[in-house]
Amino acid sequence: MKRLTLLLFLVSTLSFAQQQPLKIFISVDMEGIGGIGSPKMTSGNGKDYGLGRQLMTDEVNAVVSAIFELGDAYILVNDSHGDMQNLLHTKLDPRVEYVQSNIKPLGMVQGLDDTFDAVIFIGYHTRAGTPNGFLAHTGSGSVKGLWINGKEVGEGGLNAHFAGALGVPVVLAAGDLAFTKQIQELFPVRTVSTKESIGSSAAKMTHPSKVHEMLKEQTKAAMQDLSNAKPIEVGEPTTLKMKFSSTTRADILMSIPEMKRIDGTTVEYIAKSMDAAYRLIRVMYKYISW
Ligand SMILES: [Zn+2]
Repeated sequence: MKRLTLLLFLVSTLSFAQQQPLKIFISVDMEGIGGIGSPKMTSGNGKDYGLGRQLMTDEVNAVVSAIFELGDAYILVNDSHGDMQNLLHTKLDPRVEYVQSNIKPLGMVQGLDDTFDAVIFIGYHTRAGTPNGFLAHTGSGSVKGLWINGKEVGEGGLNAHFAGALGVPVVLAAGDLAFTKQIQELFPVRTVSTKESIGSSAAKMTHPSKVHEMLKEQTKAAMQDLSNAKPIEVGEPTTLKMKFSSTTRADILMSIPEMKRIDGTTVEYIAKSMDAAYRLIRVMYKYISW
């Protein structure tokens, strides 16, 4: 009798485990959204910003609907652009939870932890200094370069490292064509290209409806292939190096104990973990001013 009880318990535990909904984290930036082809559409007081918000919300909903078509899921969406109050939250698919606004210590990955099964990036862009990258930048205009353990990364690469240290794979990344190429140089990942940038502030666009179709298709493929997805490996302690546009910011950052000066505009720091590195990076470029 005891054996049978144990067996029943194990079977029910197993089936319960199998029925656990997938946990998916979506980080959504704005520059790489399909249909956004001018810098003004990404800025609060710019022409057609309202349309930009709608397009951003539509892309999230396209991805979310594709995930739910395959089964139950818990989805957390993090608004990751500018002041992080861009999504039209009342128009988001009601099945998601979402993180809105600033100030949050983990910025574009706020809410992500090791209980998630996968991460999706939407609306992403290339790192600072990338030719033909639509509105290419890393965090803010003051950053000229960022390296994690010697590898140059932009926002997508940085966030993928954060996820990797938690053991969570990035399974889909969408943004302009140069971004999709750049992120694939760091690790293998499914991508959707939304536009081909002409210089840094104009682009040849794919129609948003077509982008939504591609996003749905690639989201489903990513979900079906989840068992093969691998998180990127991140060495800890984690060395971060940042190059800035001015020597003044580097001067100020030298007030942090153990910060090392590499050259006039570049500093380096060895953090005990990727999590610690991420939090410090955010302080270094965003919250320090003079
Ligand atoms: Zn942005």
